[in-house]
Amino acid sequence: MKNIYFEKKIKLSNYTTIKVGGFAEYFSQPKNADEFINLIKWSHFNNQECYLIGAGSNLLINNIFLKGLTICTKKMRYINIEPLTGIVEADAGVMLPTMSNMLAKNGLQGGEWTVGIPGTVGGAICMNAGSGKLSLANNLLSVQVIDTKTLKISEIQKQDINFQYRFSPFQDNNLVIIRAKLHFEPKGNIEQLLETTKKNLKRKIETQPYDLPSFGSVFKNPTNSYAGKLIEELGLKGFKIGGAEISTMHGNFIVNNSSANSKDILDLITVIQQKVLQKKGISLQPEVRMIGFDYP
Ligand SMILES: Cc1cc2nc3c(=O)[nH]c(=O)nc-3n(C[C@H](O)[C@H](O)[C@H](O)COP(=O)(O)OP(=O)(O)OC[C@H]3O[C@@H](n4cnc5c(N)ncnc54)[C@H](O)[C@@H]3O)c2cc1C
Repeated sequence: MKNIYFEKKIKLSNYTTIKVGGFAEYFSQPKNADEFINLIKWSHFNNQECYLIGAGSNLLINNIFLKGLTICTKKMRYINIEPLTGIVEADAGVMLPTMSNMLAKNGLQGGEWTVGIPGTVGGAICMNAGSGKLSLANNLLSVQVIDTKTLKISEIQKQDINFQYRFSPFQDNNLVIIRAKLHFEPKGNIEQLLETTKKNLKRKIETQPYDLPSFGSVFKNPTNSYAGKLIEELGLKGFKIGGAEISTMHGNFIVNNSSANSKDILDLITVIQQKVLQKKGISLQPEVRMIGFDYP
């Protein structure tokens, strides 16, 4: 098979924003869609488990030796913006902050809020990343995917994807996202868009612990409440297990402030869930995705 290149025994903590994770047996970072597809085919024909990571910004990977192939899409950076129509085509690995700034510079409106999300387009679609009532799914037209079991490549229209709050079917099915087509409102005021983008980033940095390794919001917000508020009301900010700490800045963030391992973090997640259930009667569900655990 052409264009197959991977490394062996790679430390995955370097590929997650919380800086935790064991070793990948095989690891590869394709630079374009063809290389990506070939890697998926390689794992299929060689009966290898295939794990996908984008920027690893919503991911807890266990401190184990992860057998099989781990693909990181971050080097798939092709993006094409049509300033007149507002149509954007982006490879799965395009970073949201990069896209957000490019949209503003091209006068496209609607992506200013994404600037503070350190994830990729593919990861953001899989997670249905959002902020308040906004989500990337709102701007999505279609995705090109490959089925890891049948190797069939297809285009799925947005209306055929059942997006829910921080959930997409890509979390459960065999489809991986190669590329997305999106639409943003064209002909906006470039200066204003750049200003809003800058302000949005500033607000994120002021309210969330950007200076420490984390994976964003740990839990989904329960109906009519905020996970961060519930955790704060229980006085848990600053509570630590090993090197994992509930951020003193934002109750729904866990930060890795001194060489936390995956067990510290999973234990902390479990303790928070137990305390919130006991004291508030609410069962918090993790937003963070997990690899290499027997977690439900
Ligand atoms: C400081 C900080 C702030 C954040 N703020 C926000 C926020 O405001 N709103 C929000 O929603 N999230 C936020 N997040 C969480 C995170 O950035 C988003 O969920 C992001 O979209 C994840 O993208 P990723 O590329 O890092 O995905 P990863 O964490 O690498 O992966 C997440 C999941 O997506 C899957 N995946 C990755 N790429 C693909 C693909 N090409 N095809 C199919 N599946 C794929 C992975 O297998 C995994 O299951 C924040 C995180 C941090 C660290």
